[in-house]
Amino acid sequence: MIVRTATFIGSYVEEKKCPANAFAEFAFIGRSNVGKSSLINMLCNRKDLVKISRSPGKTQTLNFFLINNQFFFVDLPGYGYAKVSREMRKKWELMIEEYLTSRKTLQLIFALIDARHEPQKIDLEFVNQLTGWELPFALVFTKCDKAGKSQTWEHVHQFHDMLRSRKEAIPETFITSADTRAGKEEMLGFIEHLIENK
Ligand code: GDP
Repeated sequence: MIVRTATFIGSYVEEKKCPANAFAEFAFIGRSNVGKSSLINMLCNRKDLVKISRSPGKTQTLNFFLINNQFFFVDLPGYGYAKVSREMRKKWELMIEEYLTSRKTLQLIFALIDARHEPQKIDLEFVNQLTGWELPFALVFTKCDKAGKSQTWEHVHQFHDMLRSRKEAIPETFITSADTRAGKEEMLGFIEHLIENK
């Protein structure tokens, strides 16, 4: 699939206020600074569609982008940013939970994980939560250019082993880099497949 058009539609703070169109939605979420903005820009062939955050924890809203007049990419706030108050964090968590668990048009969640690190508790907990909610998701390992091939695969296998040890199914997994554009065709192909088979 080729992304021909990508348009910012708006930012919302609750699911009920999000666009009412019946377009399929693909949500992106991960730890703050995981490379989410860079990944969405890479998929859309744009440099600044999602402003690459200078300071982590900046995205606090559900940001909608219409792709090819056909489906939405939804940029969700990053989790795990230490410098926000507990109250603020709780508010974001509730907003994300409400969106994820009640959004009828949500097709798939891309859970982003930094390929440079061994499995982090916070990422595992988030993925377990998605499994608990019975939501469809795929794993996207980011910054693989920085991690290198063997380290990336080691971390992918470790993450999969952790899921297996909890008897969870191994989700579709993408290895990506916003720098080298690795994984772009695979992710877009997967999205296209899901839309066609909706
Ligand atoms: P976000 O907070 O998750 O949206 O993360 P950003 O996309 O803003 O990226 C955080 C930092 O990581 C920025 O300095 C990016 O330039 C850098 N970055 C993001 N993706 C990649 C990547 O694939 N490779 C490399 N080398 N750096 C990346």
